[in-house]
Formats: sequence, C-alpha cells, structure tokens
Amino acid sequence: MRILFLSFLFNVTLFANLPKETISLQLAWLHQFQSAGFYVALEKGFYEAENLDVTIKEYTSHTQPVQDVLEGKSHYGVVNGSSLLIDRHNQKPVVALMALFQRDPSILISTNPSIKNPYDLKYKHILMSDEDYRSVGMLAMLMSHGIKREELFLHHHSLNLNDLITQKVDAMACYISNEPFMLHEQAVAFTVLNPMDYGFNFYGDVLFSSENELLLHPQRTKAFYNATKKGWEWAFSHIDETAQLIYEKYNTQNKSLEALRYEGEKLKALAFDEEGFFGTLKSKKFEEIMGIYKVSGFIKKETSLEGFLDPLSFAKQTIRIGVLASRDESNTLSRSWNENAKYLSSLFPYHRFEVIPLNFDAMEQSVKNHAIEFAITNPLQAIQLEHRYGLGRIATLSSYYKNKHYSEYGSLIFTRSNAKEINTYEDVRGKKIGAVSPNSFGGYLIGMKELALEKNEKIIFLETHFNVMKAVLEGSVDVGIVRSDMVEHMVDEGLMDLKEIKVLGAKTYPDFPFLISTELYPGWILAKTSHTKDALSNELLSTLLKLSNTPTNPYFYGVNTTFDYSKVHHLLKELHLYPYENEPFTFKDVYTRYQFLFLSSAIAFVIILAFSGYIQFLNRKLRQYTHKIERFNETLEQEVNERTYELSLLNSKLKDLANIDELTNIANRRYFLLLATQYFHAAKRNSTPLYILSLDIDFFKRVNDTYGHAIGDEVLKIFCKNVQATLRKSDLFGRIGGEEFCVCAQNIPLEGALTLAERIRKNVENSHENIANLTIPTITVSIGISVMQPEDLEIFDTIKRSDEALYKAKNSGRNQVQMV
Ligand code: GH3
Ligand code: MG
Ligand code: MG
Repeated sequence: MRILFLSFLFNVTLFANLPKETISLQLAWLHQFQSAGFYVALEKGFYEAENLDVTIKEYTSHTQPVQDVLEGKSHYGVVNGSSLLIDRHNQKPVVALMALFQRDPSILISTNPSIKNPYDLKYKHILMSDEDYRSVGMLAMLMSHGIKREELFLHHHSLNLNDLITQKVDAMACYISNEPFMLHEQAVAFTVLNPMDYGFNFYGDVLFSSENELLLHPQRTKAFYNATKKGWEWAFSHIDETAQLIYEKYNTQNKSLEALRYEGEKLKALAFDEEGFFGTLKSKKFEEIMGIYKVSGFIKKETSLEGFLDPLSFAKQTIRIGVLASRDESNTLSRSWNENAKYLSSLFPYHRFEVIPLNFDAMEQSVKNHAIEFAITNPLQAIQLEHRYGLGRIATLSSYYKNKHYSEYGSLIFTRSNAKEINTYEDVRGKKIGAVSPNSFGGYLIGMKELALEKNEKIIFLETHFNVMKAVLEGSVDVGIVRSDMVEHMVDEGLMDLKEIKVLGAKTYPDFPFLISTELYPGWILAKTSHTKDALSNELLSTLLKLSNTPTNPYFYGVNTTFDYSKVHHLLKELHLYPYENEPFTFKDVYTRYQFLFLSSAIAFVIILAFSGYIQFLNRKLRQYTHKIERFNETLEQEVNERTYELSLLNSKLKDLANIDELTNIANRRYFLLLATQYFHAAKRNSTPLYILSLDIDFFKRVNDTYGHAIGDEVLKIFCKNVQATLRKSDLFGRIGGEEFCVCAQNIPLEGALTLAERIRKNVENSHENIANLTIPTITVSIGISVMQPEDLEIFDTIKRSDEALYKAKNSGRNQVQMV
C-alpha cells in the first residue's frame, strides 16, 4: 500500500522554477576517492541540474551515519551495506538506495611473516573496530577458517599504520585501495588476507536514506539518486581528472595524486556488478548476507527485505509498452497489460514496464518518435509501421477465454434477429452499416473484404465495439461489423442476449468458440520499436513465452512466436491500403501517368545513340594512338633496362676499385681499416679476442735495386698470394702502403695467433718463385703482433702496438715474429 502511495506522489510533475532543494549527505569516511562520485556530481553541476543544493559532510569522530540520517541531521548517508542490513534488522527505518561498491574493499593486512592465511590469525593481536568485525566478508572469511571471536585479540582501531609497520600488532583491518599503496611506498613487506580471495564478496559502501525521506520527498530522492549515479559513472571513467579534483579541493588527508589515482583504479574494479552496471542492489545477495549473520549469531531470525532495497525502483530503466486502445478496449486490454507489466517488472532486475494506452495516431507518433520501446497493436498497423519506421514483430498475442488461448480472429457481420429483409451479403448493399473505425482490423477491414463492399457504401464509424452492437440493436444502423469475440464477452457480462442478433455468412472452425462471418486472421502483434535493443526484446519474448505456458493470471494475454502474416498482406493489397495503396499497376496505368516521361526518354535515347556512335569513333582513334605509344614504350623500356644493367656492372667495378688494391688484389688501406674497425667493435661487444699482425718485407729496397721496380711489383703479388693462402676466410688482409701489410685475425686464442704469424713468416721464407725466368732470391718478412686490449678505443690503438712489435722484430734481426 505504501509503495502505491509513493508511486502516486512520484508521478507528480516537477516544475522547473521551484526553489532549490537543500539537502545534506553524511560520508562514511574522510575525503578520498572512496566518495569520488559525490564530489563529481557537485563540482560538475549534476546536482545543480537536478535543482539540488547538496552539502557533503566528511566523517568525524562524532559521526554515526545511520543515527544522523534517522535523526534528520543529514538527509542521506553512506555506510557499509551489510552493516546497514543489521540496522534494518534492528527495526531502524533505513532504506538502501544504491551500492557504491558491489564488492567490499575491506581486507586484513599483516606484516608478521608467520601469518600467511586466516588460520594463522588465531590468538593474534588485530587492530579492528567492531564495525570492521561485523563486515560480513571479514566475518565469513574468519568463520570459514574456524576462527571464533574469542580466539582473536581485537583492539580498537588506532588508525595508525605505524603500529602495523613496527609489528606492534600482527594484523590490521584496511582498505585494499589505501594501505597497500602506502606500504609499497615505504617498501614494507606485507601479506593481504582478502575475503574476496576466499569467495566472499559482498557490498561495500551503500548510499542510504530514511523511509521518511522517501515517503515525503520521493521526487528529490530520485533527483539525488540520478545525479549521484551520474557522478560516480563519470568519476570511474575519468579517474585522472577526478583524482586531480580531490587533490585540489578535498585533500584533507594530504594524499599524493598518485595515491588517489591508485585508489580510484582499485575501487573501480570493485564498483560495478557482473553485468557492468553501477549501483545495483540485489535481494539475493542480501539474503546470502543475512544467512551468514544468522550462522554467526549476529541476527536471530531473518527479516523481510521488503521496502529495504531501492523500494521506488530508481535503479530500473522504464520500458514503455504502447497498447493500441480504442475507448472500450482501453478497459480490457490496457488493464490486463497493466497487470502483465507489473508482473514483468518483478521478474526483470533492471527494467520497469509501463503500459501506455494509445489511439491509432498516437501509436504511430510514439513509434516514430521512439516514445515507446514496445508496441501492441493490430496486424494492419503493425505491418504499416513496420514499413514506415522499422517496427519489428516479435510475437503474436493470444487472448484468454474460458481456460484457453486464442491467437486468431476475424469479423462478425450481423443484423437484428428480426430484420427479415437482410439474410445474405447481397442484402447488405445499400444498407446502413455500422463499424468501429477505419483502422479497426476485426471491427471493419476484415468484414469489408468479406462483403466486397465498394468504398462509397454507407458506413458509419461508431468508435467502439459496444457502440456498434448497441446501434444495431437499437436500429440506428442495419448491419454491424465487430471483432469475432465481442458478442461472447458482452453476453458473458450480461449486456445482451444472443437471440437478439442474426449472424450473416456464419462460419465455423475447429477449436474456435466464437461466432464469426469471415476467414481467420493471425492476431494482434507485440513488436519492438527500432531503437529497442535485441537483447531486451529477446528476454521479454522468452519471459512471455514461459508465462504463456503457465497462465497464473486470468488477465494474462499469452504470446506465440510470430505467425505468418501473408494473409494480412493480401488483404491490405486487395483493399489498396498502405503499403499497397497503388497496387496493382497495369501497363496502361503507367503509360497514361508517365506519357511525357516516355516521350522525352525516347528522344533522349536517340540523342544518346548518336553520341555513342561518335564516341565509339573517337575511341577507335584513341586505341590506335595508344597502341603506338605502347610500342614506343616497350622499346624505350628495353633500352633503359640494358643501360641499367651496364651501369650496375660499372658501379660494382667502381666499388671494387675503391676497395681493392690494384697491384696485389687485396683490400686497400681504406677498406682494410673500415672492415677491421667493424671487426674491432664486434669483438668488443662479444668480448672475443682480436689480433693485428703488421708485416713488412725485409730489405725490399734491395729487390728493387737489383731487379728493377717491375720485378719488385711481381714479388709483391707473389708475396700476397702466399700470405693469402696461409690465412683463414675470416682473417682480413690489407695493403697498408708500399710493402707494408696488415692482417686482422679474430676469435682464436693467442697461441693460435702466434702460430698463424709464424706460419706466414715460414711460408714466405720457403717460397721459391720464378719470375720471367729469373730466380728471385728468397725474401723474408718481419711480423709484429698485438692483442686488442679492453682500454683500446679504436682499431688504431691496437695497430699502434703491432707496429711497435714490428719495429722490435726489425731491430732484433728481421725474419721473425715479435710481440710487445
Ligand atoms: P727493411 O727491412 O728495413 O724494411 O728494409 P726495406 O728495404 O724493406 O726498407 P723499407 O721498408 O723502408 O723500404 C720500402 C721500399 O719498398 C721502398 C720502395 O722502393 C719499395 N716499394 C714501396 N712500394 C713499392 C711498390 O709498389 N713496388 C715496388 N717495386 N717497390 C716498392
Ligand atoms: Mg717498409
Ligand atoms: Mg721493408
């Protein structure tokens, strides 16, 4: 009863120029992200837009949110959801409006390394208020580990994190969004015991008010609810901006911006329900909470949750069902659908269904303007609105009569039983006919089709089936057309007697209990408007189908999955009604209507023909030119290709020239140094050994002096070939200048490098070559070796030492290998 009264008040329209409502909100804690949505709603003007002037009160040591709200010190408050349930259980008239956190951020933190799970808490010292202990998640976690209240040393919460850090206590009740961050910041190791990890996740903070507030101010409560919800949703989708806002305007705790952001992220993860909605309160979850309290002895027996959780259904989205209703139908159809809507609302957690009776034109406007989510209307209008506005058929309705559902109907054509001159359809011509309305399917159109009446026949529209019936009986019309079940309903209600009427063209169908003159047509349609989500219409359909099979309510209109409506389409075609108002078209119709268009099209056709001939001629010309150009292009391309190939050969030659010494065909100085530098850096990076061998031929001047410069050149060539044959593929060999050479060897141990140098020296000494039939005297080479050192910054540092070694070799008598 109270609920009904409330919803009545709630429907009163609010006028925009009313003075602002001044209200206050008591927070559950000090300012931090935990109350972010309220600050956002205030600072972003969401409250102001709802004509509210809201004062937000921070928690102080004197605060008792529930008591304060019940005593009228504040209008709204925030407390833990499960503790609010205990208050309700204790007969306090509190009402839960919105869950701010679907899951409770409360956890236990321990810095004692011996505490790893809840079992370890037995006989330990814990900082925890009574309120914390009553938190149902905490309670369930402890209970499920067999820990009783008397097995814990509980101390009143000091709110001092140092007590935990210094291990003055073993554990402390904390918020997952606050203390872990602080401990991380101070690099303190800790263990978290989180009820959620043990499968207990119940509500955290809940926004609540008093029954009085809801009863006396349902409007402003709804306004406060909406703006607050908007604030929270904004806060969680703009965590950075919200943290900044709190940091600048509400930072009574001197938190860092980083800590506020962390808190926001952590709380966001706890705020939304499984379906992603904010604020929802579910009775099932509260029943579970009650179960835990009962087991733990906090409450003795279960209390009813009725009137406790969002009693005015603020959280539910209103879904509007428009029902086509003529004057008398608004009684039956809307009434029964009102019952349906109420029942459906109780089954849908997030939606409240509302029935809106609409006449034919208002229905069309509502579908067009998205003013309803679903429509219940006759097949004529459903098909027309499907064409015009994408109305989507979901189901065919059935009406309930004497324990059975009927999904088909037709028209009854009748006259007074004493009208002797009217017995067949033929007799109806020229008579006064009473029907319901031009858009009534059963009360006009089906009958019209059956009678094959011309439009100019005398038809009087009387608005309701009852009026038609009355007009026939009173004699103000000769013949009446009504829907096939109307007579039976009126007889049942004692409004008339069957003997008073005579049915024209009576037909019978198996399992169809009503008097009827026409064929049967599929019944009224439940349809969704184009903006309605498929998920919702599917859910509605499946719920209605389920309910149809278990009719518990005599008013209930059942549903079937949608019937085949091609018969209705045929009827619309035959009667030339939208969308078939222009059918059928003959060729003659079209010609007379579009004669001018035909002629002008013919002229245009001739002109186009002439033009296309000319264009074809031009195209031929164009093709010839294109062919020529293509041929020219081909030759050109070939020439370019040949030229490119020559150039690439030349290029690689040039490249070699730049790198290779022309006389000896080994790397020149520039190229050797370039490669050696790369080797040097790779070896440094990989920490592998690298060696430089500096080679200088002994007494080479003498060769030149004795045999001439040309022979000297040949000797150099042979020398290089010999050395090259001694080296591995990975060794670099280059001519540094004149008869001075360098080898860069890598990735071998030092002995390997020394052996290599010795082998070069020996091979040179042992080679006996003939050049131009001249026996060239044995030449020898001096070699200096250096090892790359960690302090060498570039290859020259290493080469410098091999040069010194070479100098030493020369000075020590030549034809030898030396190292410094
Ligand atoms: P040492 O044992 O001290 O090295 O005596 P050396 O005679 O070899 O003295 P040095 O290395 O100072 O002299 C190098 C000579 O090599 C000088 C030059 O005449 C000759 N030489 C340098 N480049 C060429 C070249 O390309 N062709 C020929 N044929 N001789 C060259
Ligand atoms: Mg030299
Ligand atoms: Mg020399």
